[in-house]
Amino acid sequence: MSDYINVTEIFGCDVFNDSVMQERLPKKVYKELKKTIEEGKELTMEIADVVAHEMKEWAIEKGATHYSHWFQPLTGVTAEKHDAFITAPMDNGKVLMSFSGKELIKGEPDASSFPSGGLRATFEARGYTTWDCTSPAFVRHDAAGGTLCIPTAFCSYTGEALDQKTPLLRSMEAVNTQALRLIRLFGNTTSKRVTPSVGAEQEYFLIDKEKWLQRKDLIYTGRTLFGAMPPKGQEMDDHYLGTIRQRVSAYMKEVNEECWKLGVSAKTQHNEVAPAQHELAPIYAPVNIAADHNQIMMRILKKVASRHGMRCLLHEKPFAGLNGSGKHNNWSLTTDDGINLLDPGKTPHENIQFLLVLTCILKAVDIHADLLRESAADVGNDHRLGGNEAPPAIISVFLGEQLEDVLEQLISTGTATHSKKGSKLETGVKTLPDFMKDATDRNRTSPFAFTGNKFEFRMVGARDSISSCNVVLNTIVAQAFKEACDRLEAAPDFDMAVHDLIKEYATEHQRIVFNGNGYAPEWEEEAKRRGLPNLPAMVDAIPALTTEKAVELFESFHVFTRAELESRAEIQYEIYAKAVNIEAKTMIDIATKQIIPAVIKYTTVLADSINTVRAVGNIDVSVQLDLLNQCSALLKETDENMNKLSQVTEKILKVPEGRERAVYCRETVVKAMEELRSPVDKLEMLVDKEMWPMPSYGDLIFEV
Ligand code: ADP
Ligand code: MG
Repeated sequence: MSDYINVTEIFGCDVFNDSVMQERLPKKVYKELKKTIEEGKELTMEIADVVAHEMKEWAIEKGATHYSHWFQPLTGVTAEKHDAFITAPMDNGKVLMSFSGKELIKGEPDASSFPSGGLRATFEARGYTTWDCTSPAFVRHDAAGGTLCIPTAFCSYTGEALDQKTPLLRSMEAVNTQALRLIRLFGNTTSKRVTPSVGAEQEYFLIDKEKWLQRKDLIYTGRTLFGAMPPKGQEMDDHYLGTIRQRVSAYMKEVNEECWKLGVSAKTQHNEVAPAQHELAPIYAPVNIAADHNQIMMRILKKVASRHGMRCLLHEKPFAGLNGSGKHNNWSLTTDDGINLLDPGKTPHENIQFLLVLTCILKAVDIHADLLRESAADVGNDHRLGGNEAPPAIISVFLGEQLEDVLEQLISTGTATHSKKGSKLETGVKTLPDFMKDATDRNRTSPFAFTGNKFEFRMVGARDSISSCNVVLNTIVAQAFKEACDRLEAAPDFDMAVHDLIKEYATEHQRIVFNGNGYAPEWEEEAKRRGLPNLPAMVDAIPALTTEKAVELFESFHVFTRAELESRAEIQYEIYAKAVNIEAKTMIDIATKQIIPAVIKYTTVLADSINTVRAVGNIDVSVQLDLLNQCSALLKETDENMNKLSQVTEKILKVPEGRERAVYCRETVVKAMEELRSPVDKLEMLVDKEMWPMPSYGDLIFEV
């Protein structure tokens, strides 16, 4: 790769985007396809055939030999099956390259091996992928050559969603319908669509690949299961926004280039709080595209790391004692003609539509806090949420000084008459320009923070898809809008009614607003008093999916059926138990084959040293003796705790599947894992570094 990057030229060069379609498709076909993309009009096979042909021609020019329906099953990662474009050899022994409309629109992977949570017995293995034409196809280049990737949704034979995308698209419809109703009430007759826009900030760690290869825990589970803190951690805050190392800069350059080629608008990059931790954020996009782009970005982050002799860790908590990685989900609602419904304007107190939207969101989040929390539940996130770093496990909304003040005026007097203004920021240095500062300071500890013209949901785990939380956000807000519109449309006096409604919602749901420090232990107490749910663990959060409240919500907006929700809960439990089982087995493996032998070797060296030194004469060997005693005691503790862990791990598969097994893992196995870790981490601080069987935290995070 050359040094010079012509960004505008390469941006989207591997994407079958609007300009390519316009250029390549016959006018009539282009128009029909646009109608499908923008208005959801059904696509005829005739049109699909033409689109498929042109797509194939374009992809082959880009070097593609295969096409693939690219989908997002409930495994947490993307899936794909590649088919070459070739036809059966003809009489002359040659092949043609072909791709039909049918192949574009529909695929049928053998779906029996994907999680379905009981929705589909394995003998009913049929599952279909269907083209999502609202997210553009692209050609991906990697060791396999070029592959035309077609974003698709994945459903069962009977139409149940087996993926992340289908409910996301359904929820976008729901919020679009209700948001349009709402803005019509305020006299907007021109906007045709309201779309949730999302910008997902992605955090990740980079470590050296050679060192990664020496850590079985990282290889099998994505996180370290043992590891003592080095003398220096993140306490100096010198990594955050610090100078980016050259090795990492070279990596970021290639990541950007690959993102841009695939139309992913990688924008902001920086070092994060923990050593070896970084962040990449794209410019926001319609949420279904943002979700696809985030998957593409995660894959690029991993692939490019490998090329640079590094490994990219997307786990939520790769290192105990250091900040974990999340994905801030910035969410707003935007009309097709560019109006952001979450923009308060300069004088929010006068912006009635904004106040209604805002109070509807407060209501939605208050009523469905449990669901929003659940949407971020992920095995790795259990180590992060509530761990005094990332957002706490209690959902609350940060509004900031200005909006909280408006809200208070509304609640106490029924009308808000003024908005706090941003004042001039004076630095006291003449040569620095003064500027107007924002009316509100930032808050870093809230899980759901209003940040000027969008909400930032900060709970999502770094590895997780952003689909789940946006499905919840879109649907709960759709419900709040619907209930508001039902009342307002029936009201004889709109102005009066909307005024009363805003006040009512603000008053009733004020408890969800919290502008203080979300990490403070007092907040937990306060939240309890307010009756807000505190769900620190994934297994505590999963039941939220299947409450009557949730079923009614999702069924009424056709986002999920009860069966789909139940299946998703099952899958979550299953994933949790499987992940813990793998972690426990990995710990046992490492302790048995690496740690215990290493400690035995070290104690033998100590014992030999004691004998040798003593043989020389009457020399003090108390230091060696003391070390030997300490190591032997910890070795014994390790062995005992390992046996305990082995016993409880063996039982995992004997506990009935589903919730019961997941709870057993959480309450018994995870505890036994922590007990094994404790003596091992102490041993790491005692044993000769040369003999410790794997790279330390210090080696991993400071020597990238
Ligand atoms: P921060 O200062 O919190 O990092 P930024 O303004 O840099 O916030 O934005 C972070 C993310 O939010 C980016 O992905 C950005 O594109 C996205 N974003 C900005 N405005 C909006 C909006 N109106 N709706 C959704 N996402 C947005
Ligand atoms: Mg941010």
